[in-house]
Amino acid sequence: MKKLDYERPILNKVNAGMPDKFGMKTKTATLSHIEEHSVTDILKEYGSPVYVISEPCIRKTYRTAYKAFSTRYPRVQFAWSYKTNYMNAVCKIFHSEGAWAEVVSGFEYSKAIENGISGDQIIFNGPEKSKEDLERAITDGAMIHLDGLDEFYFLGELAEKLNKKANVAIRINLNAGIYPQWDRFGFNLENGEAWHAINRIMLHDNMELVGLHTHMGTYITAVSAYAIAASKLADMAVRLQRKFNHSIKYLDLGGGFATRNTLKGAYLPGSDTCPSFDDYAEALTSALLGSELPPDKLPLLILETGRALIDESGYALGSVLANKRLVDGRRATVIDIGVNMLFTAFWYEHEVMPTKLNSEQTENTTIYGPLCMNIDIIREAIQFPLLQKGDAIVIPRIGAYNMTQWMQFIKLRPPVLLIDEDRKIHLIRKKESFQEFNAQENVPEHLK
Ligand SMILES: *Cc1c(COP(=O)(O)O)cnc(C)c1O
Repeated sequence: MKKLDYERPILNKVNAGMPDKFGMKTKTATLSHIEEHSVTDILKEYGSPVYVISEPCIRKTYRTAYKAFSTRYPRVQFAWSYKTNYMNAVCKIFHSEGAWAEVVSGFEYSKAIENGISGDQIIFNGPEKSKEDLERAITDGAMIHLDGLDEFYFLGELAEKLNKKANVAIRINLNAGIYPQWDRFGFNLENGEAWHAINRIMLHDNMELVGLHTHMGTYITAVSAYAIAASKLADMAVRLQRKFNHSIKYLDLGGGFATRNTLKGAYLPGSDTCPSFDDYAEALTSALLGSELPPDKLPLLILETGRALIDESGYALGSVLANKRLVDGRRATVIDIGVNMLFTAFWYEHEVMPTKLNSEQTENTTIYGPLCMNIDIIREAIQFPLLQKGDAIVIPRIGAYNMTQWMQFIKLRPPVLLIDEDRKIHLIRKKESFQEFNAQENVPEHLK
């Protein structure tokens, strides 16, 4: 028997048309189409849930970012942060726009090579680089960013054995006025560690110091932090010139630009507080151009922007599984998108959009994912309209970190679609299959 559309009556404050604390009406935005394709049609054809990525949006965002920097500083190079989203199709789009690759593991390094990037356009960051990883990077002429002194000695030995000169830079952590200050990666500037490491590299026969790098953190909304970091790196480059007569090839300011997503606990929505690429570029390049760096020998400015280049282009599409009442009378809506495919739900108050409204009436709702696990919450409290089982929903701005930090927990990973510039849909990652997944396992003889 079909379940009748009935809900037990409750008394509830009417929210429709009521102003909130900012004086605005609580109105639920809907999204029925992505790049001209109907969301419900996509779900019908590819199943629910599914990720969708917009190629036109990636290209537009990249060009906006590139323009902001290249119109203010003569030599700019982006390096795509693989861990932010390493779908090959996505990486290829960034590479076709001119971006190099920024990788933090041997696995990501292999991906970059497979995507047609040559070693001398790979920036190799991160705390773990194996012997094989480093030997390959030395041979390829990749830019190896040292994370600590142990790695310095290890790399030195390997380069000596290979009888090659390794291209190295150091990762520097510094005080740029942001809290918390990340100090677990690289060498500290203020306590002298970084300068100490630079002196050792300069005296090493098998190392060529090519760059200075910092990546201060992520979702940094203070553009002033970039100005401070840029002038500190510039001062370091000037000091190198003075002491060793050595011109540094590049200054790498890392990633960290914020997106329009709203952080948990933020007072205002991210769309109101997120600086533009122009804001970041103005602060950062003004600091470089205003430094003691000689204008005729300006180093290349490298940016490893991750989330700000891809967040906006990704969508999670799913369906409502059920509605229920919690014991305090609050409504709970269960959807088929859980934290297994939306890791960023731990940090962001993600916007959740119906494709259509059944009514203007909203009420305080908790949105749960499909996992049999208490932590599976997409929104703790959101003013949300009543949707029916099977209704489609869209979570926008999820392009960063979700397709890499997704978990194979309880469910297999969903497929990923790309809509290209001609609005054609491509399946860029198949839905994971039970057979493929199970094939990784081995049951010992005595348990068969
Ligand atoms: C993760 C990472 C990035 C990208 O950071 P976003 O905050 O996503 O821009 C850049 N550089 C390094 C070294 C990273 O680890």
